[in-house]
Amino acid sequence: MTLSHLWLPYSQMQTVPLPKTVIRSEGAHLHLDNGDHLVDGTSSWWTACHGYSHPYIRAAISAQLEQLPHVMLGGLVHQPVVDLSRRLAELLPGDLDYVFFSESGSVSVEIAMKMAIQFWINNGIKDRIRFLSFENAYHGDTFAAMSVCDPKKGMHRMLTGVLPEQIVATLPRSTIEFAAFEKLVAANANQAAALIIEPLVQAAAGMKFHEPEDLARIVEIARHYELLIIFDEITTGFGRTGTMFACEQADIVPDIVTLAKALTGGMLPLAATVARQDVYDSFLSESIDQALVHGPTFCGNPMGCAAANASLDLFESEPRLEQVATIADQLEEFLVPCLDIPHVADVRVKGAIGVVQLDRVPDLTAMRQRFLREGVWLRPFEDIVYIMPPFVIGSEDLTILTDAVTRVVTEWSETIC
Ligand code: PMP
Repeated sequence: MTLSHLWLPYSQMQTVPLPKTVIRSEGAHLHLDNGDHLVDGTSSWWTACHGYSHPYIRAAISAQLEQLPHVMLGGLVHQPVVDLSRRLAELLPGDLDYVFFSESGSVSVEIAMKMAIQFWINNGIKDRIRFLSFENAYHGDTFAAMSVCDPKKGMHRMLTGVLPEQIVATLPRSTIEFAAFEKLVAANANQAAALIIEPLVQAAAGMKFHEPEDLARIVEIARHYELLIIFDEITTGFGRTGTMFACEQADIVPDIVTLAKALTGGMLPLAATVARQDVYDSFLSESIDQALVHGPTFCGNPMGCAAANASLDLFESEPRLEQVATIADQLEEFLVPCLDIPHVADVRVKGAIGVVQLDRVPDLTAMRQRFLREGVWLRPFEDIVYIMPPFVIGSEDLTILTDAVTRVVTEWSETIC
């Protein structure tokens, strides 16, 4: 197959190798047009939590396709979107009760940021228009979302200076760092609408973890200075870190939460921005000017909502969080020995996320091709080799992934003089 007119994501088109062609997916396997299959350790950018092509979700989508594939949400509603908003409100902690739908994670972040700024405007405060964000953060590829990514090391660094400048903090862990963090928050509080953070796992910008206690302290400080709290649970939501949502581990009810990726079990694009009661209430008045004037065309698409409802059914009927705990144990057992490989800087595991961090950036194209020859689908980035499998992966397939990581990283380290 040639690419013809296709422009690929995150790719230097001049040098990118021709991608493999997938013709079918099932469980933790991707089947290729040449008859081979790959064991998947990515869940397709961390979406396919129930494995690929789960028959129950497929059936729900098919039934919805027959009945009502799409209808605009402006002035009309449908049962799947009403059901899904109620179920998400029930599932999320506290009074995170109002769900605004969109089609991608980045857009859900845009909406969260717009909500936070307008919350203040609706309360008569016009100056709180910036965001407190973190080094090593990643929140998406649209403009406001890019502005809260790490401006120096992040993948959008080419656009630093073009994007709105935010207040960027080091994610504090030590007493000294917390003191510096508090100083930064205090100095900027009157212009900051909200703090935005990926709770527990900063994913796409380096797979960095932090402890629930540190997260709780960060939120406590930000709340002291009256910043709204936005948790971007696009990656961490739906079980990835071992609980349904990462905020549960720190016992925090953020003001706004963003969800996407595994929301539909990875089957269709759908995202949500969920607000607490007081945020929602601030938009209520007789005037449209105080409303959230936003409405993506495919907002609350019925097939996406049917897939998401089916995915939530599966979380209820199948032991997903137990599977995550089992995966965590196995990742720990088989990846921690990688620490003995020269040039491995760190190994860490949280829930169904296993990370082997190298002490330098390898030739990523070569390493990705090498993983393909191992029969696995893994996509290292920067200095990070990671495994984030579907939660239904069996222990044999997970061993194939951890063995491949060990072998390929060992081989790579031997090439370094
Ligand atoms: N936030 C986080 C934490 C993410 O990991 C991602 C995607 N990797 C996004 C936002 C953007 O989501 P999308 O790709 O659906 O726009």
